[in-house]
Amino acid sequence: MKSHKPTIVWYQAVTCNGNTHSLLSASSSRLELFLNSFDLIYHPSLTIDTTLDDILKLKDIDFLLVEGAITSDEKYYSINQNSTKNILEKLSQKAKYIISVGSCASYGGVHKKFEQNDDILGVEEIIDTKKYKNLKHEIVNLTGCPVHPEWILQTVFSLNSFSRMSLDDEKRPRELYSNLAHHGCTRNEYFEWKVEGDFGQKEGCLFYDQGCRGPMTHSSCNKILWNDVSSKTRAGMPCIGCTEKDFPRENMLETKKNIGIPLDVPLGIPKRAYLSITGVAKTFKIDRLNKKLMD
Ligand code: SF4
Ligand code: SF4
Repeated sequence: MKSHKPTIVWYQAVTCNGNTHSLLSASSSRLELFLNSFDLIYHPSLTIDTTLDDILKLKDIDFLLVEGAITSDEKYYSINQNSTKNILEKLSQKAKYIISVGSCASYGGVHKKFEQNDDILGVEEIIDTKKYKNLKHEIVNLTGCPVHPEWILQTVFSLNSFSRMSLDDEKRPRELYSNLAHHGCTRNEYFEWKVEGDFGQKEGCLFYDQGCRGPMTHSSCNKILWNDVSSKTRAGMPCIGCTEKDFPRENMLETKKNIGIPLDVPLGIPKRAYLSITGVAKTFKIDRLNKKLMD
């Protein structure tokens, strides 16, 4: 199995396949460039020539992309009578780069939160990078439920070209996660003047009642648009903070408040300052915005 292109193995553990679906909804020109630039030698649903057993016999893999949470509990989840942890460790010995694709691979995600199994982990919690001689880089976490397809492509292309990426404290690429979902949202003016909209409406901010987490969520969803045209907030759905470690939270479509004041305020703003500014903003009635909301 000789290839002159960098090889990619996509390993699926405990997953709903959401990140695979997301990859397939990348713009066609980008997906084509990706498939022409790399050799996707294994994906359980997208490739047919190679089995996981074949991959386990290889000496090297350039990129190991992991989708889904990991468990050592074979009764809970196994592949060919092997635990997902056991297979991950074998694959990791061969990889130059390991990328956790999505929140489940990064932190355990929804499985860690709701299942009774306390043995659900993210890749980073299992793989001690110092033990793996082939590895050239820290494990990269691409959080999101699912992750944006363009973030996967940009990460693989960047690592392949430059061998390095600057990561934040959660091991996410800074160039993709240093913005907040709030940045670039078309509803920013409503946010400033505290004009709330309703779920599914085209106008109005979704922060004050609908639970929008855009101002606290590291993501470039309103800068690198989904399907090149949209995002949750553009479509009238609040951001539910799917790139953060505390996702999923309970009652995600409501804003938790104390005496009418949101419990969580935008990142980096002291609560007292936030309250003073919004208190002043609320005293203004911006007819132009209210009219747009009604129209
Ligand atoms: S809808 Fe959310 S992301 Fe958009 S301006 Fe309001 S708080 Fe920010
Ligand atoms: S807008 Fe928020 S919830 Fe939606 S994908 Fe982006 S980070 Fe996740």
